[in-house]
Amino acid sequence: MPRFCVYKPKTSCPECGNPVILDGPVRSLDCPTCFETLRFPPDLWKSLMEDAYDEYASLGWDEGNNSTIFTQGFQLQLQHGRQMPKCPVCREELPIDGIGDDHEGPIYCAACGKRTSSHSAPDWLKRVMPGAQRLYCAATEEDPNGAQELDIPPADKPVMMACMGCGASLGITTESPRITTCDYCQVENFLPDPLWRRLHPVKKRVPWYVRYA
Ligand SMILES: [Zn+2]
Ligand SMILES: [Zn+2]
Ligand SMILES: [Zn+2]
Repeated sequence: MPRFCVYKPKTSCPECGNPVILDGPVRSLDCPTCFETLRFPPDLWKSLMEDAYDEYASLGWDEGNNSTIFTQGFQLQLQHGRQMPKCPVCREELPIDGIGDDHEGPIYCAACGKRTSSHSAPDWLKRVMPGAQRLYCAATEEDPNGAQELDIPPADKPVMMACMGCGASLGITTESPRITTCDYCQVENFLPDPLWRRLHPVKKRVPWYVRYA
């Protein structure tokens, strides 16, 4: 029987102290606050993930434990346990039976329709966690935003803002830098917080899952 383990890790940036969402096993991540590149090497993931696997037989469904791990300059708080993959939004069990082992990408909650994702476990992860087969609701290095559906305005529909210098309409998209230069008068416009947050919605800390052989 495969083992289904749930992980909900939490850490903070060693440089600036602000929270960092680890919404999947990735080996590097830019701090969303100070943009420092943070490295999470495979053996860090092993120390984070092996307890849930080792304790599996002693846990009932939806049971788990908390742990705190100090490693490689990080303090990580982890909730982990035994659980079938559930929708990050409505928490109903996801319909994973029909997902082939070659599937890479979006899957949808049958109850609420929200998108999440499933991927095969990356090779580097299999080297430290040999039983790992598939990920559910997890960000990966190839699909960093696949795990949760964020309400991001489409790139081809810019939000319009008047330039502070000349009043011209600036078309602001998710690609626009925080300080956007007006094409007409070259004035630098600092995008206000509400607009910036709408274009860059903050990820929530949602649990993700690994299926082990
Ligand atoms: Zn930081
Ligand atoms: Zn749902
Ligand atoms: Zn202007």
